[in-house]
Amino acid sequence: MTQSGAGNREDMTQDIAILIVAAGRGTRAGEGMPKQWRLLAGRPVLAHTLAAFRAMGLERLVLVIHPDDAAQAKALAGEGAMIVMGGATRRASVRAALDALRDTPPRKVLIHDGARPLVSPAVISGVLEALESALAAAPALPVVDALWQGAQGRVQHAAPRDGLFRAQTPQGFDYGAILAAHHAYTGDAADDVEIARAAGLEVAITDGSDDNIKLTYAADFARAARILAERQAAHMDIRLGNGYDVHRFMPGDGCWLCGVLVPHDRALEGHSDADVGMHALTDAIYGALAEGDIGRHFPPSDPQWKGAASHIFLRHAVALAAARGYRIGNCDVTLVCERPKIGPHALAMQATLAQIMGLEAGRISVKATTSERLGFTGREEGIAAYATACLIADTGALP
Ligand code: MG
Repeated sequence: MTQSGAGNREDMTQDIAILIVAAGRGTRAGEGMPKQWRLLAGRPVLAHTLAAFRAMGLERLVLVIHPDDAAQAKALAGEGAMIVMGGATRRASVRAALDALRDTPPRKVLIHDGARPLVSPAVISGVLEALESALAAAPALPVVDALWQGAQGRVQHAAPRDGLFRAQTPQGFDYGAILAAHHAYTGDAADDVEIARAAGLEVAITDGSDDNIKLTYAADFARAARILAERQAAHMDIRLGNGYDVHRFMPGDGCWLCGVLVPHDRALEGHSDADVGMHALTDAIYGALAEGDIGRHFPPSDPQWKGAASHIFLRHAVALAAARGYRIGNCDVTLVCERPKIGPHALAMQATLAQIMGLEAGRISVKATTSERLGFTGREEGIAAYATACLIADTGALP
């Protein structure tokens, strides 16, 4: 948003009060409770609505509620939000909240439906920017569907849609102007723009959004949940990496595989403990991070890694992922060999990797296949391993 003429941002945001109207008893949305208190993606609708404004640094919140909801409203709003008891009508509720601000009047006020939890920063900013040069501004969308006049389930005639808009909130006003307009108004009103127009105020139309829906029916909640899920996905950075490794057999009496010493009539040859499965997994994580491979971080030319236990490498890769803000969603390791048989050890390997990586076992898969006696693994010259890792970063909070 612009900050023209309003000093620094803190001054500006204190100058703006946000009235959130949530006193209604509407239960058409189901579950027998007012819609603003129903859960949406695990939180009350009002929690999303409050968060949408707080995310923009707009902290001077006035929550207008029904007296029956006082306890949960206090718990939800936390410190800093003013709670005002609403009246019998929407108009009476807004007027009560405007009156509650009289002692320390803000310069501007945004009046928003509590049941519009998906309001976006762009819609809010559009209203605030318009208020820099207007006494009133509100978001709306032009009507694009054809309009009919109908009665008793029959179309009477088509109605012109030119110049018609669907009104949304937040509706923004100069505080003094809307306070005076409310006190001068008699009768009922659908919204505050109607009251402002009755007082002769010009109201600028700003861009609304199709996502800025007013939750009314049960189907609206399903749609809102889908929109929230899409926004969350847009805030996730999901990365995949793969790793591949081979070690040859040498004389010995067992192989380290995914952190487990598996008895065998041979061992694997390598600079470290030659744990081919753990190396492939480690490289998969480095790969997801675009951080090269084990050799970049633990050069084979460095004698300190001779005979090293491979969990050192894996732990390093996991820590690097965490330092970059990633958690490991899951990983999958496939060992390719005729012998030793992996099946009897697969659960122990899964548990060992889980312990090293600090993950629950259900996020780690260890499996094996033969190569049908074909190729170097089929001739039992060595063991190959493939691994895939999925890394996830939540790059932003939900609005
Ligand atoms: Mg290796």
